[in-house]
Amino acid sequence: MKIVLLGPPGAGKGTLAESLRDTLGLLHISTGDILREEMKNGTPLGKEAKKFVESGGLVPDELVTRLIKNRLENDPKAKKGFLMDGFPRTQKQAEDLDKILKDLNQPVDCTLCLEASVKTVVQRLTGRRVCKQCGALYHMTNKPPKKEGVCDNCGGPLYQRADDNEETIQNRMKVYTESTKPIIEYYKAQGKLRSIDADTDSQTVRTAALKIING
Ligand SMILES: [Zn+2]
Repeated sequence: MKIVLLGPPGAGKGTLAESLRDTLGLLHISTGDILREEMKNGTPLGKEAKKFVESGGLVPDELVTRLIKNRLENDPKAKKGFLMDGFPRTQKQAEDLDKILKDLNQPVDCTLCLEASVKTVVQRLTGRRVCKQCGALYHMTNKPPKKEGVCDNCGGPLYQRADDNEETIQNRMKVYTESTKPIIEYYKAQGKLRSIDADTDSQTVRTAALKIING
């Protein structure tokens, strides 16, 4: 099963991906995780990305596409299927992804679009805490760490991202909605788009997703 997850920041893509990954034995391909991993391991692509990150810029779309391509072609687990999280972000990337997958003879089966309201997203993101060391995500009410301010995985310190405040989140939602419209239309035209109400708890979202996947 090859699945693309769409949804605004805070809609619960990461949580859903983790829970489906374990149930269905799929590879979770998260753009953020891949970037961190490649930079940490000092791979050629990681070094290229690091230059942009260190100069305070964004990693260009085209480089992100190459990172995803590299992972899809070389990770044997990707052959069994995957959950794509954080990619594609533009229609160009969606088209490139289709080309890459066509060459691998592994077309996308479905695109799950998590639909969350601004109110839900604000509630989730303002409570979010991130591990400075390994990038693990926590939530003050929904997923607190065992010890306050400390990462369960690695013992690193947790912090609140500067852009996880209400005003910035409202802005990010606007940007997300605008930039995702063409991607949604793109997958709709292929008959692959499925929407899930994400203004609810993660268990309900998971059940809805599995119902779609198991058709
Ligand atoms: Zn950690």
